[in-house]
Amino acid sequence: MLEMKHIKKSFDGIEVLKDISLKVDEGEVLGIIGPSGSGKSTLLRCATNLETQDSGEIHYEGTFGLVFQNFNLFPHFSVMKNITDAPIKVQKRNKEEVYKEARELLKKMGLEDKENAYPHQLSGGQQQRVSIARALAMRPDILFFDEPTSALDPELTGEILKVIKALASEHMTMVIVTHEMNFARNVSDHIIFMDKGVIAEYGTPEEVFGSSNERMKEFLGKFG
Ligand code: ATP
Ligand code: MG
Repeated sequence: MLEMKHIKKSFDGIEVLKDISLKVDEGEVLGIIGPSGSGKSTLLRCATNLETQDSGEIHYEGTFGLVFQNFNLFPHFSVMKNITDAPIKVQKRNKEEVYKEARELLKKMGLEDKENAYPHQLSGGQQQRVSIARALAMRPDILFFDEPTSALDPELTGEILKVIKALASEHMTMVIVTHEMNFARNVSDHIIFMDKGVIAEYGTPEEVFGSSNERMKEFLGKFG
C-alpha cells in the first residue's frame, strides 16, 4: 500500500531523515513515536508530498488523507463546505452524492447537527472530527495523522482516539504519529520509534515497548 525506500532529507545542511525505509500493508495501522525533533512530521510530510525528499523513493496506491494537529479547517467555510469542497472541486464527483456521504460521515462523527456551523463555533474535539470527516470524504486508501490529539484537552482527546480506533476496526490503512503511548500500543499493528532521523526500533507494539533500547527506555520514561 505504501512503501518508502532510503528516504533522506536535510534542512540547511542538517540531515533530518537518514535513510528511512518502511512499508505499510493494506488494512495496517503503523504508529510512529519518538522524541521531539526526531523527524516524525518530516517523514509524514515527505510521504504526503508536502515536502520533497532529497533522495529515495516513495510508492503508494490510491489517494491519501491527512489530519493535522491543528485541524487546518478553512475558517470561512461551513463544516459542510469544508468536507465537500475537495471531493466536488478536485475529485469532480457528483454533488448530491458527495453531500449524502458528507452527512453520513458527520453522523458517524456525532456531528449531524453541525453541518452549517463554522469552525470557530466548534470545540477543538469537534473541529478535529470535522477534519477527519473531511479526510474521509476523499475516500482515501490511506490516512495519515500527525499528532491528532496534541492540541486537545485530555477530555477531548478520548473522543478522537475513539474515532480513530473505530476506523482501525474497519481496517482503514493508517499511519499515526502520536504522543499517546497507550493508544499507539492498542491501535497499531506495527510501531516505529524514530530517534534523530533514523528508525531506531520497528516491530509489533509488544516488541517495541518491550525493547531494551536505551533511547527507547529513556523516551518512555518521560511518560511515567
Ligand atoms: P515533534 O514531536 O516536536 O513534532 P518531529 O519528530 O515531528 O517533532 P520534525 O518536525 O520532523 O520533528 O523536525 C525534525 C527536524 O527538522 C527538527 O530539527 C526541525 O527543526 C527540522 N525541520 C523541520 N522542518 C523544517 C523546515 N521546513 N526548515 C528547517 N528545518 C526544519
Ligand atoms: Mg511533529
